Amino acid sequence: TLSVADPTVRTTCPYCGVGCGVLATPDGSGGAAIAGDTEHPANFGRLCSKGSALGETLSLENRLLHPQVDGVQASWDAALTTVSDKLRAVAETHGPDAIAFYLSGQLLTEDYYVANKLAKGFIGTPHVDTNSRLCMSSAVAAHRRAFGSDTVPGCYEDLDEADLIVMVGSNTAWCHPILFRRMADAKARRGTKFVVIDPRRTQTGQEADLFLGIRPGSDVALFSGLLVHLADNGFRDRAFVDSHTAGLDAALDRARAIAPDVAAVAAATGVPASDIAAFYDLFAGTRRVVTAFSQGVNQSAQGTDKGNSIINCHLITGRIGETGMGPFSLTGQPNAMGGREVGGLANMLAAHMHFAPEEVDRVRRFWGAPRIVTGEGMKAVALFEAVARGKIKALWVMGTNPLVSMPQADRIREALKGLELYAVSEVMADSDTVRGLGKTTVLLPALAWGEKDGTVTNSERRISRQRRFLTAPGEARADWAVLSEVGRRLGHDRAFAFSSAAAVFREHAGLSAYENNGTRDFDLGALTDISDAAYDINLPVQWPIPKRSGPKGAPQGKARLFGDGRFYTFDRRARFVAVQPPGLAQAVSEDFPFVLNTGRVRDHWHTMTRTGKSQRLSAHRAVPFVEVHPDDAAGLGLTEGGIARLRTEHGEAELEVMITDTVVPGGLFMPMHWGSAYASKARVGALVRGVPDPVSGQPELKATPAALEPV
Ligand code: SF4
Repeated sequence: TLSVADPTVRTTCPYCGVGCGVLATPDGSGGAAIAGDTEHPANFGRLCSKGSALGETLSLENRLLHPQVDGVQASWDAALTTVSDKLRAVAETHGPDAIAFYLSGQLLTEDYYVANKLAKGFIGTPHVDTNSRLCMSSAVAAHRRAFGSDTVPGCYEDLDEADLIVMVGSNTAWCHPILFRRMADAKARRGTKFVVIDPRRTQTGQEADLFLGIRPGSDVALFSGLLVHLADNGFRDRAFVDSHTAGLDAALDRARAIAPDVAAVAAATGVPASDIAAFYDLFAGTRRVVTAFSQGVNQSAQGTDKGNSIINCHLITGRIGETGMGPFSLTGQPNAMGGREVGGLANMLAAHMHFAPEEVDRVRRFWGAPRIVTGEGMKAVALFEAVARGKIKALWVMGTNPLVSMPQADRIREALKGLELYAVSEVMADSDTVRGLGKTTVLLPALAWGEKDGTVTNSERRISRQRRFLTAPGEARADWAVLSEVGRRLGHDRAFAFSSAAAVFREHAGLSAYENNGTRDFDLGALTDISDAAYDINLPVQWPIPKRSGPKGAPQGKARLFGDGRFYTFDRRARFVAVQPPGLAQAVSEDFPFVLNTGRVRDHWHTMTRTGKSQRLSAHRAVPFVEVHPDDAAGLGLTEGGIARLRTEHGEAELEVMITDTVVPGGLFMPMHWGSAYASKARVGALVRGVPDPVSGQPELKATPAALEPV
């Protein structure tokens, strides 16, 4: 435990959803020494390459330090007057639903909470979505269909205690490195087997006991075949299925139609039948199995069905809610979970409530909201299309860089020019997204990691603190405070009288517990009255933490849910889902014969606004590249290290050629990180169409038809 005099501050890594604890010791001149927090239950002192290099990313180079209006430095008062006047004018002229917010899994829960409250309760627009739509919204939708709630059933300890870990569409070794090290420890200690399912043989696949290199988009066939195998070979947990689930017959009928036997699965996935049979036998014969899935499942036009086809296999075997087992969504961003909790997705209201009339009324009464919204808003892809159509007149982007990351990014660039207000809360002075585009562009300098204070929730529902250890530079301010000031300027003094991040958190906890009789999963009742001092010391903790548990001392959360077989549907039964047959949203053609996959590299994060400051991290992959199979490279006359032009129907990029058999013939891979701020013509968002999943709205980012040629 740190002493009061110790300058070291206990905080949380701002990168991936593992949510590692970090100790930061400021050096007094704007930098800090960084170490892993041995007392944090996510990482027990370990940090990956990105986390351990955090100290190298703290410089003020390229920081936005002062508000700007139309490219000219302005006072906060002038900037906020412009924002609130424009919001009021747009609402009066075009209606409140001409206003939209596009938020980020990088925001703290407190920032997210105030943005959502302002928009959905007081401005009266439902159009609040977030870059988490591009990250894990299909997992959210799959959870809701199966469990009646967006609940991650298990915890990291299950990875320590599993005998089989199946990783689907996840380069865990690079994208969730500290969890992968926990898995490797389990392998060394108890012989845990790894099965990796991915079209690319990534670092994770190379360490698998069994690697299934499936065709892009064929996951549903693989898991439908597994469901049939489990049902037909005596692995159905009849007591669990009969007492705690519904819908197996329909799901099984559909699975049989998709994948009647191993031969059909082999034909659909391109994986040898012997490997499929080996996977099915391993899964069937191992009780402690965790299926961890990530963006290869979620970033798909069929992502929700992929998630449910995995969950179906855990439900039929009753492998959920107990030690060492369960489906496990590996969240990409540091606070995608916190955003989900406050209603940062357009199809949620707040505190995991949706738009049933009684839920709308409950939130309205709790907030005292004059303009509560009554239905879902537009999800990210549709939201930016509405900007292009001129339906959205005012857009406030916070903590994200959609001009690099959103599908069809160049169309968005054009669309933003028609806005009457384009407000951007941002840390960087120059990125694709902050270049002034709207008729009225307002840049609002935000606090960065190390300067801001609040909470984040990681992939195992654990709420941790991000704490301040640096002085705010220039005029940068906390996002929750800026949003609150706008709320007050719009005439809602009492509702936005927050004086601290802790005060916001208390209200957020209060809403989660308000009229919650145990039928809602998200419950922070024990934290409703948390003091400022306790807010500082009593975290991390896993939700739910209901008040009625009456904890003495530090509140204790719950590691696992559903062990009692009670879910959050109206009849407390889980649902099997009859999924649609597999298929890709866009087929390859003569003009675009390759399938383009996109994703992360080990040492960069998102659009590199932070990791790009570290020479050490940048050295791992210095330039944007395209991975191409040796056979295809030979056929196209490409050489290692040469430059190739990658084209899709939406745009093109110039990339360094990396010849590797980690991609299959016909497959390509390019990283998602580089934007034009790095003088590169390699923005993923400019290349992909992003066909959305019909349930979750999450766009397809893993399978775009493409062409490749030497430059
Ligand atoms: Fe940070 Fe994720 Fe690495 Fe942990 S695993 S140090 S949270 S990037």
